[in-house]
Amino acid sequence: MNGSVGPMRVLVTGGSGLVGRAIERVVKKEGEEREGEEWIFLSSKEANLMSAEETRAAFEKHHPTHVIHLAAMVGGLFRNMRQNLDFWRYNVFINDNVLQAAHEFGVVKVVSCLSTCIFPDKTTYPIDETMIHNGPPHESNFGYAFAKRMIDVQNRAYFQQYGLRYTAVIPTNVFGPHDNFNIDDGHVLPGLIHKTYLAKKEGKPLQVWGSGRALRQFIYSLDLARLFLWVLREYDEVEPIILSVDGWDKNLSLQRTTIPRYTCLLPILPDVATSVCATSKADGQFKKTASNAKLRKYLPDFKFTPFRAAVKETCDWFVANYDAARK
Ligand code: NAP
Ligand code: GDP
Repeated sequence: MNGSVGPMRVLVTGGSGLVGRAIERVVKKEGEEREGEEWIFLSSKEANLMSAEETRAAFEKHHPTHVIHLAAMVGGLFRNMRQNLDFWRYNVFINDNVLQAAHEFGVVKVVSCLSTCIFPDKTTYPIDETMIHNGPPHESNFGYAFAKRMIDVQNRAYFQQYGLRYTAVIPTNVFGPHDNFNIDDGHVLPGLIHKTYLAKKEGKPLQVWGSGRALRQFIYSLDLARLFLWVLREYDEVEPIILSVDGWDKNLSLQRTTIPRYTCLLPILPDVATSVCATSKADGQFKKTASNAKLRKYLPDFKFTPFRAAVKETCDWFVANYDAARK
């Protein structure tokens, strides 16, 4: 059964994070909420999903018919490298608690969130949905990657044993308002936005980490949110679906010549003239370029926000919310 029939009570775990806040904005402010739908955005303050009891209590309280499961321990390359064990344990507990509570409380559909970080390091390109379990992930984030892969295993098992259509999406690197702008723990784009802001303020060069050769794809959190709604309401497969921008061969290179070209567009740093590469810092996986062919088969007309416009909106948000932003 897909999500488009009958009244829906949608529980969004991780409702206070980057992706959760984007879904909330699309639902509440962009008029995407449909009649008969009720949305509940959960944060760790209401329920620590590491605890099976607290997870069950949240499901008992809200009685969702549908769940978007975002809650996770999340971080950029350098936090992953430091805390592989924590990423594995936190995420395995959270995922098992949420999926099992969903099953016990009769939830008809769960859409969980994987990531293109979880694919094998040694692979062919572009990566597609069939390749998740084809080989070990990059060693930098094996804890997070294996924990996320187990969601796919668990979804298949719920289908096999109970006929439940619990599924997952696979986004590329996400960015947008409400991101984690912490330089040591967060992802590359919010990290660079924050570092650029400081470089401008202090009159210092922008420092880009790694060799500059690594390639990444990015999706704007608001676009991801709109796609999440479609998956929840219309997508009927247990098999996951990659949510990625077009042109899988057009990654953003992190070379120092490229980053300032993007970031110099931004209102916060018209005069950061120089950048340097800290080449002793890790690159992580060289590339994880993923195909959105499956998505395009379903949604040929979906329009992604142009990258520059999305980065500008994110920077504007960061500057306007500097004191309150996670950093
Ligand atoms: P985020 O901004 O760090 O948000 C994480 C969310 O999880 C927050 O709402 C947080 O609640 C909640 N959470 C963490 N631990 C929890 C716990 N023990 N109990 C209950 N809630 C807990 O992360 P995000 O970037 O939005 O990520 C959302 C999903 O997208 C995750 O599943 C992530 O793996 C996936 N994803 C992210 C990216 C990316 O580039 N960011 C890329 C691919 C996939 P509090 O606010 O209360 O702490
Ligand atoms: P990943 O995509 O999961 O590997 O994680 P990130 O979003 O943290 O991206 C890491 C890539 O960006 C690596 O190749 C880093 O060397 C590079 N990078 C360059 N500057 C930064 C920075 O300021 N912060 C982070 N997190 N990564 C950076």
